[in-house]
Amino acid sequence: MGPEPTPAAAVLAQLEQLRADDLPTHGGRTLAYVYDSGVAEADELGRQALAMYGGTNGLDPTAFPSLLRMETELVGVAREMFHGGPDVVGTVTSGGTESILLAVQAARDAHPEITDPVLVVPTTIHAAFHKACHYFGLERVSVPVDPGTFRADPTAMAAAMDEHAGRVVLVAVSTPSYAHGVIDPVEEVAAATRERGLRLHVDACIGGWVLPWADVADPWDFAVEGVTSLSADLHKYAYAPKGVSLLLHADAALRRPQLFASADWPGYTMLNSTVQSTKSGGPLAAAWAVVRYFGDSGYARLVRTSLEGTRAVVAGIETQEHLHVVVPPDSTLVAIGTDGSCDVFTLSDLMLERGWFVQPQMGFEGAPATLHVSLSAATAASVPDFLTALGECVEEAVRRGPVVVDAELRAAAEAIDPATLDDDAFDGLLQVAGLAGEGGTIGLPEHMAPVNALLDVAPPRLREALLVAFLDRLTR
Ligand SMILES: *Cc1c(COP(=O)(O)O)cnc(C)c1O
Repeated sequence: MGPEPTPAAAVLAQLEQLRADDLPTHGGRTLAYVYDSGVAEADELGRQALAMYGGTNGLDPTAFPSLLRMETELVGVAREMFHGGPDVVGTVTSGGTESILLAVQAARDAHPEITDPVLVVPTTIHAAFHKACHYFGLERVSVPVDPGTFRADPTAMAAAMDEHAGRVVLVAVSTPSYAHGVIDPVEEVAAATRERGLRLHVDACIGGWVLPWADVADPWDFAVEGVTSLSADLHKYAYAPKGVSLLLHADAALRRPQLFASADWPGYTMLNSTVQSTKSGGPLAAAWAVVRYFGDSGYARLVRTSLEGTRAVVAGIETQEHLHVVVPPDSTLVAIGTDGSCDVFTLSDLMLERGWFVQPQMGFEGAPATLHVSLSAATAASVPDFLTALGECVEEAVRRGPVVVDAELRAAAEAIDPATLDDDAFDGLLQVAGLAGEGGTIGLPEHMAPVNALLDVAPPRLREALLVAFLDRLTR
């Protein structure tokens, strides 16, 4: 059973070879998914710490006091960065999603008497909150954002809190939002939650290691009275290897429902602060190492570099015919739109051919599809190259014209109720969408634009169902 024993050198060579088809994690040309400081020594340090602690187990902090110490120190660094008082406590988690899941779970379980709990968020909140509601049985009330600024509308959010009075266990906002890179008005929303005695979570997953060194006009973190929890990912702009984020609570009482123990079985008494139980100490050690390595001045420099790069991207796009910046960004994320003479899906395909990954974002509630760019420090120096490549791609994409989705197909997509589809129907639809070949072979086509354009006109529920069917088949 299982594979034949293989010499270590051959296995390593194979791993190396497998990586060849992946997006590059370094070099500054992958503008989503990865974050690159461009500092080789920091990368090497992170890798070494990851390897050194890869076998340790955060399941029991008394058995591995090194992990407890590093976690406490990272929380201490973050507490100060985010203007937390002495009462702030925190947990190192495996990523932004886990931090958010735990924030929602703790808020729900703080109110066992509320049997139909509600989460109030702006429509721009990260989908991790949707997942949390799905996992933990909350109703999500998504409040439309200001259509001009894409920022949360505090008045509308307050109205939603009142409409669901007695059921709201948590309100959340983003600093900044992923899709548009803008900071929600934390102070105004906090005024509403404070008045109503509600918890308020600030999702700083992507901004947490940027905004403390940026010139942000208004307070947005624990400096705002009423912010009860905050998430900040270390595996994004802290430039730590993947698998690490922070969840902070304003005080220990707010965190209390997050902690879990079970003595009701014959094994060890399980005692956890996170979703994971056995968990590698590697990502924590790597984050601790990289955060120490860069220090305050290191991050100040990296943030300055990536903000300069972002400003250069924004300025370059503004001079580019057919493109515009959807909203001036507050941080290092840019959403780019077109004037309709070309489409973002063709653009992202063409950019990929030139070695640049930019992330298409589907249209949402009437707003057209956009391209997402997360700018790391390592990209800043090559922004002129990026803009040149983008300009060439726009020219080519305009020449080709936007992908047109067949009117009949569009009408069919709009009419389909995904709940009524069986497995065979999904097989057929995946072929129509271009996500499966003849005979049902599953995989991505060479050019994603036709697939994305079709998914873009599909109602979100159908898009979700199709992609779930795709993932299901991809992983069989
Ligand atoms: C990335 C991100 C998350 C989710 O984090 P993961 O690490 O991908 O699980 C949540 N919120 C925002 C704003 C993000 O950018």
